[in-house]
Amino acid sequence: MSLSLPHYSIPFNRPFLAGLELEYIRQAVAAGKLSGNGEFTRRCHQFFEHRYGVAKALLTASGTDALEMAALLLNLQPGDEVIMPSYTFTSTANAFVLRGAHVIFADSGPDHPNLDWQQVAPLLSARTKAIVLVHYGGQPLVGLYELLDLARKHSLWVIEDAAQAIEAQYEGQPLGTFGHLAAFSFHETKNISAGEGGMLVINDPSFMARAEILWEKGTNRAAFARGEAARYEWVDIGSSFLASELNAAYLWAQLQAIDIIQARRRQLWEYYAKALAPLAATGAFRLLPQLPAAQPNWHIFALLCRHETERDALLAYLRKHQILAVFHYLPLHLSPFYGPRHDGRALPHAERYAQTLVRLPLFHDLQPAEQNLIVRAIYAFYQTSFGLAFVE
Ligand SMILES: *Cc1c(COP(=O)(O)O)cnc(C)c1O
Repeated sequence: MSLSLPHYSIPFNRPFLAGLELEYIRQAVAAGKLSGNGEFTRRCHQFFEHRYGVAKALLTASGTDALEMAALLLNLQPGDEVIMPSYTFTSTANAFVLRGAHVIFADSGPDHPNLDWQQVAPLLSARTKAIVLVHYGGQPLVGLYELLDLARKHSLWVIEDAAQAIEAQYEGQPLGTFGHLAAFSFHETKNISAGEGGMLVINDPSFMARAEILWEKGTNRAAFARGEAARYEWVDIGSSFLASELNAAYLWAQLQAIDIIQARRRQLWEYYAKALAPLAATGAFRLLPQLPAAQPNWHIFALLCRHETERDALLAYLRKHQILAVFHYLPLHLSPFYGPRHDGRALPHAERYAQTLVRLPLFHDLQPAEQNLIVRAIYAFYQTSFGLAFVE
């Protein structure tokens, strides 16, 4: 009997080199600077500031770090409330829980895992300080402007968890530029990767000076290096949120290749959409709807199965054929950690996405033959006796 993990011939994700990653890492070593905030970090900051028109960007060791910096910047007090969707990654909530905030979970919409904006107003209280938007699969929520208006009216901070949203836009404006602060991720599974990495985007200039201090362990190191401070000293709380130049060098190569990477993802995404449309039309599963005014970034290709039993059977069938497709979040309001702290409201849509959503492999060098095999396997599944029993 073997205890080794199964080897999937088609993994869910495969890291890739866009071109100059290893050359830039070599250059960073040759330059004798591997700690953070060096030349490659500066280039990554500039890329965000120029391409997306943000006031300031700070490279972090992870998207989680960028979210934690955002939560620190808000100066939340224990008992302050932060509203966010339950259908998200733990870091979205954990960053605020670390500050002692109470997270109020809201449900997803009926057609898309994003927050249902109309559920937010009834959840507001005198203690509400912030709303966190998660752009699931790189798409903004329906009612983005309405929700921003609501936040303005109640003087609430808006934080965008844009971890999956690089290059996506709404009405021509990049996601990550709508809130006061936004967090991007360069985790291995995201469109643009540094292995681990993140970017805090500061759209409200009042946060700029303090963000730099939190980033550099509570010191004024960045201002001192620019000659703006007489002494290099400890001036506030903070942590080591900045990323190594090794990661920044890898990331810079990926950012330079962003148009090629996005075009490839689009091609793969459109192949799935076209090939699977006839099967979706039989009612076998649904595809996530696209918002008409949104520019997608091709981050996720997801199917919504009819129910959990069929979803699990599909995943098992694909696994049997050496294809690793995966489900996504378990709703945070039902998690072992936060369940007992949640106020007991049922969030049926979040629970349904947890039970029915399937993400297919989608990565830069997924081969046409591999993608064809995945599509054929999905068709074959729905022709087996199990799948057929559900086709009306
Ligand atoms: C990936 C992701 C994160 C965390 O980013 P890391 O870089 O892995 O820390 C947070 N929120 C969402 C929605 C994500 O997809």
